[in-house]
Amino acid sequence: MKAALLKEKGVLEVGDAPETFHDGWAVVETKAAGICGTELHILDGMFDPPHFPFVIGHEASGIVRSVPAGSAVKVGDRVAVYNMIGCGTCPWCLTGNEQICTNPVGQLGFSLDGTFRDALAVPVQNLIVLPEQVSFNDAALLSCGGMTAVHAVRLGAVSLGDTVIVDGVGGVGLMAIQVAYGAGARVLAIADSEAKAVLAREAGASDVVVLDAAGYAAIPERMFELTGGRGATHFIELVGSAESMVAGLRSLGRRGAFISIGYNGDDLTINPVELILSELRIFSSVAASRRDLETAVSLAAAGRLKTVVDTEYPLADVQTGLDRLRARAVSGRNIVVWD
Ligand SMILES: [Zn+2]
Ligand SMILES: [Zn+2]
Repeated sequence: MKAALLKEKGVLEVGDAPETFHDGWAVVETKAAGICGTELHILDGMFDPPHFPFVIGHEASGIVRSVPAGSAVKVGDRVAVYNMIGCGTCPWCLTGNEQICTNPVGQLGFSLDGTFRDALAVPVQNLIVLPEQVSFNDAALLSCGGMTAVHAVRLGAVSLGDTVIVDGVGGVGLMAIQVAYGAGARVLAIADSEAKAVLAREAGASDVVVLDAAGYAAIPERMFELTGGRGATHFIELVGSAESMVAGLRSLGRRGAFISIGYNGDDLTINPVELILSELRIFSSVAASRRDLETAVSLAAAGRLKTVVDTEYPLADVQTGLDRLRARAVSGRNIVVWD
């Protein structure tokens, strides 16, 4: 089979990979796999893969090729792939928090070979059978951005009447806007282009601030204006620069919640007095649980969580999709598709 193989830091090649799969796991023929900012981080060496060559990619959907005897999932089923493989026995796995398993088997595309390949294997419980309304492209994007948005909104307990700022209108941001809006919040978004502002409004943002020459320094004042002087109840941070994180904290009202998801290598530096005086809360949110992916799939089936695909690429052209993502020239998600 073909796979996108990281040969060494920064060197990606599409080539042949062996079809060796874990005994007792299901095998899925890949149909779609989203191209995420995380892949750029791995290419750049922000995380070291466990071995070279390493198959990158962590979002996927496909068709079940084989399952262990007695599985509820059947050969031929259309599925989304939940990419975190927990131990199944620690207190976190047993309470449906596989994303913070203390002894994980691994995660596709991070510590286990990933999804940019013609077929992949995972435990059968990592498969979520898709309702017919949910396409392979939808499912692939829900299996990272969609579930991550659901997880963050759930963790932050966003509810009716809240005001949520979503910083960053990329793959996760567009989902977070829809999920927070669906939870009953007013959503304000921060975008780096007019084209993304249009997408953010379509997704449910009532107001979008497009970054100008003043950058993030101007954001807190703008957000207090937009909220009648109260500040927001939540700031969902998908950018993760030193300036954006501080601007986020300063855009919150009393007891506001900063939800950290995106990162780009910068440190968060703020005097604790700024946090204490408003009793601000800082959450962090990593990926999502299997249940969050199930929720994302059911929201999509109900028409309440839409995915935005910029361009579909065959596996052979994955580098083009990555390059365009790095150039910030993507609206929504680029995606690898298989016929
Ligand atoms: Zn992703
Ligand atoms: Zn566990």
